[in-house]
Amino acid sequence: MKHKIPCFCDNTFSVEVPDEIDLDIQDEYINKIMDGSFMNFFCTNCGKKHKPEFPITILWPSRNLRLEVIPELDRGEFYRRKKDQEQKETVIGYPELSDRIAVYRDRLEPAVIEALKYYLFLKAEETNPDMEISIWYQNKGPDSLEFHIHGLKTDEIAVTRLPLDLYEKTNRDYKANPRGELFSSLRWRSYLSIQNMLRPEELK
Ligand SMILES: [Zn+2]
Repeated sequence: MKHKIPCFCDNTFSVEVPDEIDLDIQDEYINKIMDGSFMNFFCTNCGKKHKPEFPITILWPSRNLRLEVIPELDRGEFYRRKKDQEQKETVIGYPELSDRIAVYRDRLEPAVIEALKYYLFLKAEETNPDMEISIWYQNKGPDSLEFHIHGLKTDEIAVTRLPLDLYEKTNRDYKANPRGELFSSLRWRSYLSIQNMLRPEELK
């Protein structure tokens, strides 16, 4: 699909964006999604880099994943819509896309990762009640999972590692009771995310 991108230099240029990407076939996109170079466009006049978010479907058949990616700007619209896309999971915003692809790459259970992010969030918020905190899954080490916490300090990212044992324990809780209170609160229809627990009143 063609999109137009307006630049501050008054130039408007158009870009061609796929509606759907299959990560089994186009695996070069996996790294692009991870390192933030996914959907970067450069103004044809002044060269400025633009990072717009367009809706897209990401398929990863070998991981049994069908993901509907909604731009962050359409978050409110998502909560108001009546019906979900069939058989697709939802993420909102490209940072969440990157987080979720990392979770599938490492063959982890997204509901458990979101639950662990929520624990980390509660802990971070206790000591930093006025900061806007966001937590992102990064990767899996031999005995720990790495998360990045944004917003504790301006322009600084805190790196934190949780023991793999805690993941496995939480995964057992999830498997035993997937509709438990925490796991249910993390999901809103097709959308599984810590954001469902942090949702401001006006989006409820
Ligand atoms: Zn420009």
